[in-house]
Amino acid sequence: MSELLESLREALSSDAPSDGAPMPGNGSARLVTDPDVIASYAHDEAQWAPYGTPAALVRAGSARDVARVVEVCARLGVPVVPRGAGTGLSGGANALDGCVLLSLEAMDGILEIDPVERLAVVQPGVVNDDLRRACAEHGLWYPPDPASSPWSTIGGTSRPTPAASAASSTA
Ligand SMILES: Cc1cc2nc3c(=O)[nH]c(=O)nc-3n(C[C@H](O)[C@H](O)[C@H](O)COP(=O)(O)OP(=O)(O)OC[C@H]3O[C@@H](n4cnc5c(N)ncnc54)[C@H](O)[C@@H]3O)c2cc1C
Repeated sequence: MSELLESLREALSSDAPSDGAPMPGNGSARLVTDPDVIASYAHDEAQWAPYGTPAALVRAGSARDVARVVEVCARLGVPVVPRGAGTGLSGGANALDGCVLLSLEAMDGILEIDPVERLAVVQPGVVNDDLRRACAEHGLWYPPDPASSPWSTIGGTSRPTPAASAASSTA
């Protein structure tokens, strides 16, 4: 087994949640190495965009999982590609060769909606329409409305594009 897979397996082996989030499967289940399964996560909906062959897929179940994956990959110099629902049309969630795909779709908790502060605390895998419905129950409106909103996640929707980042840094 490669050092990367061994390190990920070890890092994900403790199932103690740090943030109260549900933990799907044990550590081994969250680390996916089956090439057929990984292949189905290797690219988004951009038919034209190139993509590589990932080394592994981690279906994160908590912030602790995310931190552990990033720690291992930073130590070993392995790229991490985060991914929500994979509905993007620009290849942003596409795998790099040898990367770890970090799927956030299982982290779909709506932790708090505070109508007074107009604040929602959510995990990155919350589906846009689910958050809109939950906000509406408090008389609030969550405005982002891509046509993919029945499937796409807030993590993939709120990530700034390079163009948006450049625009905001020059504003
Ligand atoms: C049928 C269809 C209709 C669409 N309609 C629209 C539309 O009307 N308007 C529009 O703007 N877009 C639209 N899109 C594009 C896409 O659905 C949206 O951009 C959507 O918000 C992406 O969400 P996702 O969860 O699928 O993100 P993904 O495709 O999984 O990821 C998008 C980007 O965000 C990054 N990312 C994902 N999660 C995280 C995270 N937690 N932390 C950091 N980075 C993260 C990924 O690496 C990638 O770069 C459409 C796509 C389809 C297939």
